[in-house]
Amino acid sequence: MRATLIYGAGDVRVENVPDPVIEQPTDAVVRVLRACVCGSDLWPYGSRAATQHGDRIGHEFLGVVEETGSEVHGLKRGDVVVAPFVWSDNTCDFCLEGLQTSCRHGGMWARNGVDGGQGEAVRVPQAQGTLVRLPVGEDSALLPSLLTLSDVFPTGYHCAVTAGVNARTTVTVIGDGAVGLSAVLSARRLGAERIILMGRHKDRTDLGREFGATDVVAERGEEGVERVRELTGGDGTHAVLECVGLEQAMDTAFGVVRDGGVVGRVGAPQYEKVSMGSREFMRNITLTGGVAPARAYIEELLPDMLDGTIEPGRVFDHTVHLEKVPDGYRAMAARQALKVLITP
Ligand SMILES: [Zn+2]
Repeated sequence: MRATLIYGAGDVRVENVPDPVIEQPTDAVVRVLRACVCGSDLWPYGSRAATQHGDRIGHEFLGVVEETGSEVHGLKRGDVVVAPFVWSDNTCDFCLEGLQTSCRHGGMWARNGVDGGQGEAVRVPQAQGTLVRLPVGEDSALLPSLLTLSDVFPTGYHCAVTAGVNARTTVTVIGDGAVGLSAVLSARRLGAERIILMGRHKDRTDLGREFGATDVVAERGEEGVERVRELTGGDGTHAVLECVGLEQAMDTAFGVVRDGGVVGRVGAPQYEKVSMGSREFMRNITLTGGVAPARAYIEELLPDMLDGTIEPGRVFDHTVHLEKVPDGYRAMAARQALKVLITP
């Protein structure tokens, strides 16, 4: 089959790789219907050291079950399923606590001999716990929104949930990428009425307004902090959803959070330390968030997508065929595309 491999910064190729087969009785093989490029794929795309061998890449996909191992129950050939960006048994103590990203028997796609999502098919370990059946056909118009269940939308949602967003909280979302826009949609879904979106790409912040943002702040750094403070009577907002992952975004988050407020972060951190000293202590600031256990949110979010209440799939503004995935990476890295959908 064909699949995407990364060889180094700026070097992504689609090549022939072995067809996936059932290796463990808990495996399934899924033919991919839709996949996509994640903002976090752009970190290795920007910096990975060049190597002779390529590594598989991609962790967001939905598809059709082709085959199941003998211990996989509740799934059958032909089912349309979505896979979260971490596979898990969904039965261990961490999974039962809703933290499938810490599953005792789980792992990541495209690591240690497991397939990546940006290919024609995927061997899915722990298939019964990992995959969620979707009550739609292979040609459903809802596939783009349903695909966001694998990562980007639950990641934005996790940010809003961990930051305690509700109808009484004011919210600032930092970042107008697909996760930031998902965080806006999530904050709105959780009842927030005042949502300030910090971002400087007008086409993206326009979509953010449609998703529920009430104010847009294009300024960055100190200027951006001041602008948010002006909008909130000098105080900042109760919740801040940091959806970038850079140190400057974290500094902005502490600058715009209200005393007693909560900063949730879901942007994969490109820094080692958070500067959280006596200033934040005296202001009673909480820092939370982390890698999103997407699997924990899928059943909760699915109905709103099926009935069209929310359409997070609108973050896809660019579609490429699997063979053109390198073009998709280039477009996203150059900020010409917000998020790239991949079709077989
Ligand atoms: Zn588990």
